[in-house]
Formats: sequence, C-alpha cells, structure tokens
Amino acid sequence: MLLELRGVSLFYNRIQALHEISLEVDQGEVVALIGANGAGKTTTMRAISGLRPIGAGAIHFDGQDISRLRPDKRVIRGLCQSPEGRGIFPGMTVLENLEMGAYTRRDRAGVASDLNRIFELFPRLAERRRQAAGTMSGGEQQMLAVGRALMSKPKLLLLDEPSMGLAPMLIQQIFAIIKEINQQGMTVLVVEQNAQQALKIAHRAYVLETGRIVKSGTGDELLHDPAVKEAYLGVA
Ligand code: ATP
Repeated sequence: MLLELRGVSLFYNRIQALHEISLEVDQGEVVALIGANGAGKTTTMRAISGLRPIGAGAIHFDGQDISRLRPDKRVIRGLCQSPEGRGIFPGMTVLENLEMGAYTRRDRAGVASDLNRIFELFPRLAERRRQAAGTMSGGEQQMLAVGRALMSKPKLLLLDEPSMGLAPMLIQQIFAIIKEINQQGMTVLVVEQNAQQALKIAHRAYVLETGRIVKSGTGDELLHDPAVKEAYLGVA
C-alpha cells in the first residue's frame, strides 16, 4: 500500500468536513475520488498533503505514519500535489516553472531527462518554454501545473480537479496524458467532478458524499453503477 487513510476526520472549526474517511492507493494505480460540489474532495486532498491538520484517524504513506508531518516534509517523502486553481508562478517562464518543480532534486541528469519527457507529453509547453506562464491559456496553465508536479518526481501524484475550467477537447487530452503518465509508472490519486472521464481511466474509485465515502469499486463497476450514473454521470 502506498497511501492509506484510516478513519480520517477533519474539522473546519466546529464544522466536520470529513467523517472517518478510509481509502487506499496501491503502487501503480490510478485512483479517482469523485463527488459533487462541496462533498469534501479538496478537503481530502488537504488532509493528505498536510495543508489542514486532521482531527482523527491516521494517514500512512510509503510505510510510515505521516498524519502529523508538515506539508513540506511530505513533499520530500514523495507526495506531490498539483493544486486546484493551478498555483503556477505567472511571472516566470514555462521553463522556470518546470525547473521550480525539481528544486528538491539533486540528480541533474534525471531532471534534464524528465524535462524532455514532459516536453514530449506536452508539446505546447515545449513551444512556449520561454513564455511567461501567466500569459498562457487556462488549459496550458493546467498542463504546466501537472508538468511541474511531475518534475518533483513524486512517488504519488495528487491531482485536484485537473479538468476544471477546460474545454471538452482539452479535458480528453489531459485524461489521456494522466493515463500515459500512469503507464510510465506513476501512481496517481485524482479528485474530479468530471466523474465520467475520471472513472474511465481509474483502476479504482471512491464516491464521496457530504464528507463520507459512500461507495467504492473499480472504475468500470462505478461507471456502470445505476446510482452513480444517475447522480454523477447525468444519466437518468
Ligand atoms: P468543490 O469541488 O466545490 O471544491 P469539494 O468536494 O472539493 O467541492 P470541499 O472544498 O472539500 O469540497 O468542501 C467540503 C466542505 O467543507 C464544504 O461544506 C465546504 O463549505 C467546507 N469548507 C471547505 N473549506 C473550508 C474552509 N476553509 N473553512 C470552512 N469550511 C470549509
């Protein structure tokens, strides 16, 4: 098990946003966490990355209890989140943003080859490597955020709503890229409102409703689950 949440609860002051969440991500998997607006998807990501302290339960990563570890220490252990809303540096170039992603790494040759791999995955970023990141389109910025996360060479890539605000064609593209990254060996936990696309590429998935996991299964099982179809896939 690479990541395991056991009975995790999280509070915003007195409001309980997560109720004893348990979930697992195995090495090599794509796991999706789907749910409506306000279900607690982003909050789950904050619990995992350490941006919010958990109120109860435990989080294990790569064989260790990280429940009380600072966010930067979790990054060093190989947890990397590409944040919702992108969080790139708008005044820096595409290349500089990607290099920032690798700032904790000492393996120069590895960094150079990963940079090439990212430019192969995202030809748009290669074309725009000298352009200020803030002047690119939303879709391009989203791709940059994913690329930057990959540059840190994480053991687990956390993606928060990678399709948010993208045009349908770009949404397909970003999911195809996530699938490809996974096939190259990266383990991915992706949080998505776009359940259809996420379930298509996920080995397994969890459904979150008002801070509780209400269902789990393989991506395929959930894609064909009548209740999931009705609630999340727009099929009556
Ligand atoms: P969205 O897709 O809209 O971001 P989500 O599934 O990611 O939805 P969260 O953002 O995790 O949902 O929110 C879960 C619950 O926690 C919501 O009821 C929300 O209002 C509440 N919440 C989130 N952030 C805070 C905060 N900083 N302070 C207080 N309540 C919060």
